[in-house]
Amino acid sequence: MNAEIICVGTELLLGNIVNTNAAFIAERISRLGIGCYNQCVVGDNMDRCLSQLKESSSRSDIIILSGGLGPTEDDMTKEAVAAFTKLPLVEDAVSRRSIEEYFAKRGIEPTENNWKQALVPKGAKAVPNANGTAPGIILETKNCKYILLPGPPIELESMFDSQIMPYLQSLGAGSIFSRTVKIVGVGESKAETMIKDLIDSQDNPTIATYAKTAEVHIRVTAYGEDEKQARKLVKPVVKELKARFGSNVYSAEDEASLEQAIIELLDSNKMTMSTVESCTGGLVSSTVVGVPGASEVFKCGFVTYSNKSKRKLVGVKKGTLDKYGAVSRQVATEMAKGGAAVSKSDVCISVTGIAGPDGGTDEKPVGLVYIGCYVRGDVKVKEFHFSGNRNKVRSLSAKNALILARECILEYISKVNFG
Ligand code: ATP
Ligand code: MG
Repeated sequence: MNAEIICVGTELLLGNIVNTNAAFIAERISRLGIGCYNQCVVGDNMDRCLSQLKESSSRSDIIILSGGLGPTEDDMTKEAVAAFTKLPLVEDAVSRRSIEEYFAKRGIEPTENNWKQALVPKGAKAVPNANGTAPGIILETKNCKYILLPGPPIELESMFDSQIMPYLQSLGAGSIFSRTVKIVGVGESKAETMIKDLIDSQDNPTIATYAKTAEVHIRVTAYGEDEKQARKLVKPVVKELKARFGSNVYSAEDEASLEQAIIELLDSNKMTMSTVESCTGGLVSSTVVGVPGASEVFKCGFVTYSNKSKRKLVGVKKGTLDKYGAVSRQVATEMAKGGAAVSKSDVCISVTGIAGPDGGTDEKPVGLVYIGCYVRGDVKVKEFHFSGNRNKVRSLSAKNALILARECILEYISKVNFG
């Protein structure tokens, strides 16, 4: 079964709004194993809409249209579908009642054009709209099924999930299931080389790698008659990936983040953490605090931007700052140790670097960052040379700080457990 998406709206063509509806619909139907053959945008224009319907219906089983269902003159998606299928528009009694109720509840008098929204092509089914007045429409003809949806994403998305997904499933579409194995500490090309044999022989499930900021995600997607069957196909491949990448895999859950994995690691080992940040200015602590439940493990975050604050807040020695400079391995070490001591935490991450665009020298160029991690007595510091603008350097620093923290915590745990 294949489908295509037609988004109607001159606003989209002009670039005034981003076509999030197409992405939303495409993602949803791919979960059902329905192939999306084409996506397009047409303006609010009857002739162009008709010619698009002609083209789309000649090759696709399902045509999903978004936008142009409203009460105004430029809204003409329904009229175009009715004209194309040569069906008259008739009033849907349930839709008329719900429009009456919608306005009554708000104490507003509907205008004449509001009743236009209760019209559907003869034989079509109106789909109630829980968040607006324009109902959606499902129209089945001999060779094609048309699904018309309101343009506002808040209306379209809830209608799609609550009513269109079950409808599409009832057509006998299969199911797609995917899981993402998330990896740190291995670059994308190395990761691809490590699984080349799996990629080369892939069919169902398919395997795709995606490079993220300092991470690689490998998405395993299977198609099955139902979700259970698709899950069964994905499982052994995820297991194999976990075996190949070992402790570089921090999660195989779609929603999981690196910071969440760290919080869980600390929580399950009854450890606490803190941060001492210079060039990241709180980005690491803010990322960690973004995880619900962070309060169980996160004690304190210092933003020690100036030299004075490095000394005053976490006890970095003046001599160390004078001798090595704020951006140095030695200062990163003292920041991590000092932060852990002041906050009495088991783990402390420190970051000091030059985010640019100014402040770099030949010896210490922009992008030079030292990241430290203290874990119960030991400190490890790594030197990084990041490229990119200020924000890129800061986000890479924060991400790598989390990666180093995870590495150090895992090393500590394995040392304690296995001597
Ligand atoms: P209304 O009853 O609000 O007129 P409608 O079904 O007629 O709804 P449109 O008039 O085409 O839909 O669009 C209404 C609003 O919905 C747009 O101004 C825009 O904010 C949003 N919208 C429309 N199409 C899309 C799209 N493809 N992606 C994201 N947002 C969209
Ligand atoms: Mg409209």
